[in-house]
Amino acid sequence: MKLQEYTKKRHFALTPEPSGEENVRRQRNGPFIYVVQKHLASHLHYDFRLEWRGTLLSWALPKGPSLDPAVKRLAMRTEDHPIEYANFEGVIPADQYGAGTVMLWDRGTWQPDDADVEASLKKGEIKFTLYGEKLKGSWVLVRTRGFGRNPGGSAWLLIKHRDRYASTEDVTEEEPRSVATRRFLADIARDERGDVEKAAKGDPSGEARLSSSTRTVPKRSRKPPKKQ
Ligand code: MN
Repeated sequence: MKLQEYTKKRHFALTPEPSGEENVRRQRNGPFIYVVQKHLASHLHYDFRLEWRGTLLSWALPKGPSLDPAVKRLAMRTEDHPIEYANFEGVIPADQYGAGTVMLWDRGTWQPDDADVEASLKKGEIKFTLYGEKLKGSWVLVRTRGFGRNPGGSAWLLIKHRDRYASTEDVTEEEPRSVATRRFLADIARDERGDVEKAAKGDPSGEARLSSSTRTVPKRSRKPPKKQ
């Protein structure tokens, strides 16, 4: 719907991200796409996206989602993304917007409680059900005041509702792999010529993962050990 901001920030000759040109303006009654992308850019965050009227409504969660209804997770509203972005996993080159490694962390469909999502957005409260592989059940996104001074975005909170999918398990720690390829961030960076060392910092026990990931890197890219 409104991809101007998305398009303005990116150079599609240089980044593998979708341009949104193929975007079909779908006006469906559902099921709608839901996706979470784990993104190690300047800081690790989780991009939470919900299909609505031909684009993906997007929020960036610095700490990712929590299954614990007692935990509220900050979700900064970001620019709408094209529908095709829901399939993107890869590396954004170093000098491009959002540079770093992107993992398809979760995907599925979502259903708003109230069919008038536009009104919910305006009101600042969206209740919905997720049918993801990792995130399921009833959730709410609530806009907050008090985080203030956020040019280009507003602060929301993502909260799990109490249901049989609520849990105190740390889902980001317990389920760190790509839902599409089972890869870790370091694997994606290695496969797509990204910064493996940096990407590994977003994986659990980053140090341990790094040593196994770099094993397959060609010898010429390794620095010879220094002699004492
Ligand atoms: Mn991001």
